[in-house]
Amino acid sequence: MFEVRTNAVRKIERQKRIVEAAADRKNGMTVNAIAAKMGVSRNAIEKYLRDERLSVSSGIKLDTRKATYHRTCLNCGTKIRVESPYRRCCSVCNTNARGAMV
Ligand SMILES: [Zn+2]
Repeated sequence: MFEVRTNAVRKIERQKRIVEAAADRKNGMTVNAIAAKMGVSRNAIEKYLRDERLSVSSGIKLDTRKATYHRTCLNCGTKIRVESPYRRCCSVCNTNARGAMV
């Protein structure tokens, strides 16, 4: 399926990784271990940690809100806000669809 990844989404995902990397580091994980866990390079983790220190020292809060998508339910037309770009139906229609498949 085609995946929509806007810059805004990428930015939020990166900030989530920064927060996670900083938390892991505080818990005593090595940079290498964090890199292996997240599947990114050691350099990326060091950059994340630098950015995190910068945000702490500058007082700028990292934005860790979940990305949301505004969609119109493909079945009933209700306007919905969802956390996954793949969700195209409201919860009511989703439940009905599951029921119909049994
Ligand atoms: Zn619906």
